[in-house]
Amino acid sequence: MLTANSTVPPRLRAALTCHSLNLIGGNWSPAASGETFPVVNPAAPGDLLAAFPASEPSDVQDAVEAAHEALPGWSAMPAPERARILDRAITLLEARAEELAYALTWEEGKAIAEARVEVRRGLDAMAFLAAEGRRMGGQTLPSAQPNMLAFSQRRPLGVVGIITPWNFPFAIPAWKLAPALITGNTVVFKPAEQTPICAMLLAEALQEAGLPPGVLNVVHGAGAVGRELVAHPLVRGISFTGSTAVGKEINAAAASRLAKVQLELGGKNAAIVLADADLDLAAREIAAAAWGSSGQRCTATSRLIVQREVAEQLVGKLLALAPGYRVGSGFDPEVKVGPVIEASALARIESYLDLARQEGASVAIGGHRLSGDGYFFAPTVLTGVSPVMTVAQEEIFGPVLSVIEVESLEEAIAVSNAVSYGLSSALYTRDLAAALGYARNAATGLLHVNCSSIYSEIQLPFGGIKDSGFGGREMGPTAIDFYTEWQTVYMQG
Ligand code: ADP
Repeated sequence: MLTANSTVPPRLRAALTCHSLNLIGGNWSPAASGETFPVVNPAAPGDLLAAFPASEPSDVQDAVEAAHEALPGWSAMPAPERARILDRAITLLEARAEELAYALTWEEGKAIAEARVEVRRGLDAMAFLAAEGRRMGGQTLPSAQPNMLAFSQRRPLGVVGIITPWNFPFAIPAWKLAPALITGNTVVFKPAEQTPICAMLLAEALQEAGLPPGVLNVVHGAGAVGRELVAHPLVRGISFTGSTAVGKEINAAAASRLAKVQLELGGKNAAIVLADADLDLAAREIAAAAWGSSGQRCTATSRLIVQREVAEQLVGKLLALAPGYRVGSGFDPEVKVGPVIEASALARIESYLDLARQEGASVAIGGHRLSGDGYFFAPTVLTGVSPVMTVAQEEIFGPVLSVIEVESLEEAIAVSNAVSYGLSSALYTRDLAAALGYARNAATGLLHVNCSSIYSEIQLPFGGIKDSGFGGREMGPTAIDFYTEWQTVYMQG
């Protein structure tokens, strides 16, 4: 069991020594410039574990060319054989799960228990999607002609670019790479610059499992490397998770050459609590969804929209739960709230708190950073928030919950919908008619009744509407749709 005082697991140390590099055409290589960037522990920013290549346009070019070269061989391999390689990678990663969780907490900061859950979830997603190797297909339909066979089949897009954020540094790459690879695409993967270690460990296992050279290429670096990848004419699809601003930029760049995009973007997710709800359940779930992972989930609950008659009671329950959300290093097993990712994130959360105060909200608990070197912010509840305040409209990406009081379910749904985002929402009630009304009218891609906005399962589609997502759902049976194109075949004999 890993603790705050554990030393770096020996195999991880070896992996970092050999593979803190780009992966291009099956070779681990430095950036052409030789430049690197450091990987920092957000709980102790002076603590450096590794340096990764700061890639340049020529590195991206090499990676895309390697992927393009590997495409004919990989796409011609029978899909069940591709699945066998993914299965071997999953077995290797299972054996390294604890090392992965360590790396995740080290570079991203989240509590080690949450890191373990993320690793499990990433592996489950890979297993579910690897099985598509024996499942994916098209349809055979009756033909209007007597001697015609008419069917549809999927073909891979070609070279795809995968660009991922830092907040789920293992699970998101896992659930994008698996469907990309199983469907016969080759990949250039640009992980977030804050969290390259989990990405490297995933790529390493896939290589060890027998992925042919060039099928998966990894280029490390900041946003400019992603932009270069998006702009490359040989890249036929880009799957991106990150901010709405960057997602819109990627969509615009890809549109000019008709490259496909899949965008998983921000959220401003609400929990609606009606007066008849189980308030203890609601408080427990909302606290976990607002403060867990330091609020750095795109599905985090950041607005509590509550019927006025139970508002005080519910806020009281949340305040009583707050001391249980201990803040500190994610390696401390008592800690539930790790650091936020970097100094600029902390400054951004603080600036939202300033705005909230200026616009007339009250801080019921928290509202400040914690002393010390790490990027720690106290679990926060803001009361007296109106739906038009900045903190009720913009994504904060910190452990901050804004409480908005309403009279009715209709008003609650209207307030929940009155943001530019549409990722996730939740309703707490015992009233079936209210639940049905919510399911009909909530403008989010994920809806929940008596469970929180962060809940999702890998075998169902995941994603948002409006400014939260575009271009096809991840996970579930829909995951392979983005990575394939349809062909319709008419055979007369
Ligand atoms: P966050 O605010 O969560 O860091 P970003 O959207 O900035 O979200 O980053 C998500 C991913 O997109 C990271 O891998 C980042 O390096 C990459 N990225 C940032 N800017 C661009 C861009 N202009 N084009 C392509 N990728 C980018």
